[in-house]
Amino acid sequence: MAILVVDDSRSVRFFIKKMLEERGYKEIKEASSAKEAFDILGIYRNNNNNTDEIDLILMDIIMEDMDGVEACQIIKQEPKYNDTPIIMITSETKSEWLKKAFDAGAIDYIQKQAGKIELYARVESALKLNNEIKERKKRERQLKDMTKHLEQINNELEEKNEKLERMVNIDGLTGIANRRFFDEILTREWKRSKNDKKVLSLIICDIDFFKFYNDTYGHQAGDECLKRVANKLCQVVTRPQDLVARYGGEEFAIILPYVDSDDALRIGERIRKGVKALYIPHETSEISDHVTLSVGVATVKYEWGNNNKKELRLDKFIELADQALYKAKQDGRDRVDYAIYRE
Ligand code: GH3
Ligand code: MG
Ligand code: MG
Repeated sequence: MAILVVDDSRSVRFFIKKMLEERGYKEIKEASSAKEAFDILGIYRNNNNNTDEIDLILMDIIMEDMDGVEACQIIKQEPKYNDTPIIMITSETKSEWLKKAFDAGAIDYIQKQAGKIELYARVESALKLNNEIKERKKRERQLKDMTKHLEQINNELEEKNEKLERMVNIDGLTGIANRRFFDEILTREWKRSKNDKKVLSLIICDIDFFKFYNDTYGHQAGDECLKRVANKLCQVVTRPQDLVARYGGEEFAIILPYVDSDDALRIGERIRKGVKALYIPHETSEISDHVTLSVGVATVKYEWGNNNKKELRLDKFIELADQALYKAKQDGRDRVDYAIYRE
C-alpha cells in the first residue's frame, strides 16, 4: 500500500509521513514539487509501466512552479492513474480552489491543520475506494477473458459440428454423398414429387465385372477406379438439385428431381459413355477392354384426372430402378435400361 505525499513544505511532509507511519502505513513516498511527483510516477517518461504502484496521492494545492491543481490534472490524464485517488492538502478552504481541485479529478481534501483522526478517516476511505475500483476492474477483465475464451470454444465447436455433419453425409472414399444422405434426400424428394405430382427420376448404376477388376489389379487400384467413376458421374450430373451418391460397393445412385424419363435416359446414356471414355483398362472384363457401367433408370409419373389410382410406394420405385439395372446386366452389360412407374 504506497502513498505519495506531494508538498513543498518539508515540515508538512514530515508530519503527514509520521502520522501515516504511526497508523501502520509503511510505504510513504515524498515529493517536494509537482515535477518530483511526476518523476516518481513516471509521467513524461516513455514508459511508466515499471514505476512503483501508488495507491493514493496527497497533494498540496499551493506550490511553487506548478500548483497542485494543475499537477492533479496532468496525473489524471495518464491512463495508469485514472483511478488513483488524489486528496488535496490545503490551508485554503476557499471554495474556488476546492472547486478547481475537484474539477481536476481530486476526490477529497484535507486541511493542513487537521488532526490524525481526520487524516486517517480520509486516507482510509480513499484507499478503500481505490481497492474496490481495482477489484471491480479485475473482475471485469476476468469476465472479458472468460467471454473471449467461451467465444473461442463456441467457434471451435461450431466448426467441428459442421465438419461432423459433413462427414456423416459423405462417403469417405469417393467424397460424394453416402447411402445415409441418399436415403434422406430420396425420401424428401419422393414426398415432394407425390405432393406436387411432379415427375422424379432415379438412376442406379453398377460397375461391370468389378470383382475381376479387384482380382486383377488389386484392391487399391479398385479404390482408385471407384474414385474416378464417382468423379465422372459428378461431371455429368451438374444441376444443383440432383444428387450423386455412393449406393454401396461399386454401385452409385443419382436422384433427378423434375427430370422425365427421356431426359433421365439421356443422362443415363451420358454417364455410361462418360465412364467408358475414361478408358480405365480392364483386361479381365468379359465385354470390353475397359471399365464399363450398367445403368438402370426409373421415372415416376403422375396422371391428372386418373381416378383408379394405386398407391405409389418408394420401395417399389427403388425396386424398379434396380430391376432396370438387373435387366441391363442380363442383356449384356455396358447399357442402359429403364422403367416407368405410373399411378
Ligand atoms: P457385375 O458385372 O455383375 O456387377 O459383377 P461384379 O464383379 O462387378 O459384381 P460383384 O457383386 O460380384 O462384385 C463386386 C465387387 O466390388 C466385390 C467387392 O470386393 C468390390 N468392392 C465393393 N466395394 C469396394 C471398395 O470399396 N473398394 C474396392 N476396391 N472394391 C470394392
Ligand atoms: Mg458390379
Ligand atoms: Mg454390385
